[in-house]
Amino acid sequence: MTQHFPRGAPGMAFTLQERQILGIHGLLPPKVETQDTQAMRFQNNLKKMTDPLEKYIYLMGIQERNERLFYRVLMEDIEELMPIVYTPTVGLACTQYGHIFRRPKGLFISIRDRGHVRSILDNWPESNVAAVVVTDGERILGLGDLGVYGMGIPVGKLCLYTACAGIRPERCLPVVIDVGTDNETLLHDPLYMGLYQKRDRSQAYDDLIDEFMEAVVEKYGQDTLIQFEDFGNHNAFRFLRKYREKYCTFNDDIQGTASVALAGLLAAQRAVGKPITEHRVLFLGAGEAALGIANLIVMAMTESGVSQDEAQNKIWMYDKYGLLVKGRPQETDANQEAFVHDSPGDVQSFLDAVNTIKPTAIIGVAGAGRLFTHDVIKAMGTLNERPIIFALSNPTNKAECTAEDAYKLTDGRCLFASGSPFGPVTLSDGRVLTPGQGNNAYIFPGVALAVIEFLYFFQTLAEQLTDKELAEGRLYPPLSNIREVSVQMAVKVMEYVYAKGMAFRYPEPLDKNGFVRATVWNTQYDSFLPDTYDWPGVNFSPK
Ligand code: NAP
Ligand code: MN
Repeated sequence: MTQHFPRGAPGMAFTLQERQILGIHGLLPPKVETQDTQAMRFQNNLKKMTDPLEKYIYLMGIQERNERLFYRVLMEDIEELMPIVYTPTVGLACTQYGHIFRRPKGLFISIRDRGHVRSILDNWPESNVAAVVVTDGERILGLGDLGVYGMGIPVGKLCLYTACAGIRPERCLPVVIDVGTDNETLLHDPLYMGLYQKRDRSQAYDDLIDEFMEAVVEKYGQDTLIQFEDFGNHNAFRFLRKYREKYCTFNDDIQGTASVALAGLLAAQRAVGKPITEHRVLFLGAGEAALGIANLIVMAMTESGVSQDEAQNKIWMYDKYGLLVKGRPQETDANQEAFVHDSPGDVQSFLDAVNTIKPTAIIGVAGAGRLFTHDVIKAMGTLNERPIIFALSNPTNKAECTAEDAYKLTDGRCLFASGSPFGPVTLSDGRVLTPGQGNNAYIFPGVALAVIEFLYFFQTLAEQLTDKELAEGRLYPPLSNIREVSVQMAVKVMEYVYAKGMAFRYPEPLDKNGFVRATVWNTQYDSFLPDTYDWPGVNFSPK
């Protein structure tokens, strides 16, 4: 049925003339609907559904049938629908991918395709791709190795590129690289959709990623943005180092997370009234997210005048084996070295670490569930007038603590942010606090809309928070403003790039704000009528 309709088809909103000219008249009910009516039907149906996964499946179906309608509804209600299209529900959808499968989305490249990656890219129907999000499925959110089931993540991330930053959907390409999976459940799942083999960790894997990078820029140009997403720790750091000088590439888990966490800290500073250099930060987790955030905090501290050593000494990390200290039996890797300090005394638990190090902020990025226990939260409340508690692990059940626990156990004094959303919390004295969602969704769409220049991203984000929002407990602007946040970021980046003489597009647009706004995609339907017109005054009778 749908094959009668061209891409971008507006369904019931085809005009009478369009239906006649395209030869589809009669294939739709007679009424010509407005997008408003279509959106109403869509929203009514969504309201009837209580199961988030059911909503996810419905939304993804609309995305296939009427893309502009999908984005219109998503953008109108982003606070409500982002948790469906993105964390936490997208996590559930990934674990169930082969079971709820309707239609493929995105491009699948397997280790068996080595030497033929370009041919696969040539099968992708779009010729003007500007942004690629790629995963190998090894560390999907905090859910571990989901192999090709991880495709939900690039698809969801790219939906936000369009919804939050107005990047045209056909310019976005989601990719999964299938090199197998070490997830035994999936290897025994008859509905699994990837190669039934253990992860290939040989040179062939590296060669495949190399080939992929080359094929992408060969086909779509050197300036194609390639975002690495949810790769395993070791590979994420390796590839970032390997490719960052050669490609326009970006690791969201290391760099995007860092920017959003630092923005949260800068906003929290405004409430605490203490400069960043006076903070002491203890991380739970010492992986991609922790190290990305830690390195950016060091940068921010050194910008404020302290030495690199001094800054690094204010940051501690606690992983599966305990505090990262010199001489411990478990190895630490080169990325962690700067944050491995002399042992501060006997530390047997995370609570001990809190009481010994006396941090002003704890940041949870372990992906291992509720490890900010009641005692930990209370200890933070005793040590600090305004403790900073960030539970950034995704999805919701992996968060280090709930918003409710954080606020209630500190009598509403803590500054809280989480990676997946929690609802507002009412305290016993009647105060209502709104937790901030410290998610890289604030960053990556803006990054994609502009060039990569992190210092400017987190400052812009922190600047966009009003005093009123800060008083409500928010550390980030409301998600409903996310499109504006992305536009402002892109404008800042343009200003920076032109001021530094790094721009490619000349003449320089004087009205940068207007320029960015004009490039942003919108959800109005295109006309399907051919360009028909008259030649007034033309007379074909011979003279
Ligand atoms: P990663 O590189 O695999 O790092 C996980 C770290 O946590 C490792 O250092 C690991 O230690 C440690 N860990 C695991 N279990 C632990 C436990 N029981 N106690 C203490 N430490 C433990 O993963 P990542 O990329 O940093 O991501 C971690 C989490 O952050 C995920 O849940 C992800 O969803 C979340 N995240 C959130 C955002 C956001 O925007 N809010 C962005 C990115 C990531 P070992 O190395 O010893 O195993
Ligand atoms: Mn991620």
